[in-house]
Amino acid sequence: MELYCPQRTSQRIILHLDMDSFYASVEMQDRPEIRGKPVVIGADPKNGKGRGVVSTCSYEARAFGIRSAMPISQAYILCPQAIFLPPDISRYIQVSAEVIAILRSYGFVLQQVSIDEAFLDVSRLGSFTAARELSVTIKKTILARLGLSCSIGAGPGKVVAKIASDFNKPDGLTVVEPDDVKAFLAPLPVRKIPGIGKKSESELFELGIRTIGDLAAYDIQALVARFGQGAVCLHDIALGIDTSEVEERDGIKSLSRETTFDTDTSDPQVISVTMDTLAEDVHRSLVAENLRCKTLTVKVRYQGFVTKTKARTLSHFTDDGRIIKSCAHTLLLELTDGKKIRLLGFRLSSFDKGVTRQTTLPCDQTQNRFS
Ligand SMILES: [Mg+2]
Repeated sequence: MELYCPQRTSQRIILHLDMDSFYASVEMQDRPEIRGKPVVIGADPKNGKGRGVVSTCSYEARAFGIRSAMPISQAYILCPQAIFLPPDISRYIQVSAEVIAILRSYGFVLQQVSIDEAFLDVSRLGSFTAARELSVTIKKTILARLGLSCSIGAGPGKVVAKIASDFNKPDGLTVVEPDDVKAFLAPLPVRKIPGIGKKSESELFELGIRTIGDLAAYDIQALVARFGQGAVCLHDIALGIDTSEVEERDGIKSLSRETTFDTDTSDPQVISVTMDTLAEDVHRSLVAENLRCKTLTVKVRYQGFVTKTKARTLSHFTDDGRIIKSCAHTLLLELTDGKKIRLLGFRLSSFDKGVTRQTTLPCDQTQNRFS
């Protein structure tokens, strides 16, 4: 029947759900004594001498100016009395699975994009009003079952939905109908486009581009000349053109982390320490997921928009942290030639889901906690 109803099938309705300060919220849900306090999840601050960064922080900590990806030492200066906790990734993965199970129960195509984010293609609901109602129901259900709040954005494409979920955090619900996409995007800073960081933002500023509307109005040829072909996609997004599909995935396909340097660097020491942190982080997730991997990929973004990756596929599956780390450094060497680096990333993929994989998580505690 749908074949004869083109208007209905051509209207896409995508939801993007993002848990609010996920790691910190899980910790606060698990430990009532720290609720309502500034909670910072990340590296050990070691009385202000610690290295590493803030992973997530509670909204109470944000009130002190603390942000994700900020050096932990800076977070300590801003709020030494905050509660600093190391990430308990296996616990967050467990809660994440519960969130995804709730989302799956509605029967839409679902794409999990990170531990606390997912897209749903709810086009078959047929209207944005119905999508709004479903979003309200999802938010209520997650809060009732897990004690956690989330923000949802709805729009005719993935990027708009993602920007919308971030629009009114925490506990937000922002619905952007097709006719309102341009007006919604235009006044927002370009930084709101996923993938545009501090650096790209300042390069766009140099061209006088501050808002997404400025970007949409800018000559595409000039953008391509300045930034390369990647600018086409960026320009389309600014115009509200986004046809990428919500892709159902069969379990976890990869585990990755990346970090953008505060200032572009070619300092081998800084780059090496950062690589270590990324490799350790991703390895921890691998172990928490009871997986073994075969393919390792290092990604480097240089000054400007140029990004390169190097990958290696091992002859055997591994979950050995030393092998993973040394391989990461070997790949990194092939990508560093003294040029300044803006971003460093590391990814593990090609997982072994053999018989050794433990699929049952210890859930007695969870049941007590949430019942
Ligand atoms: Mg989140």
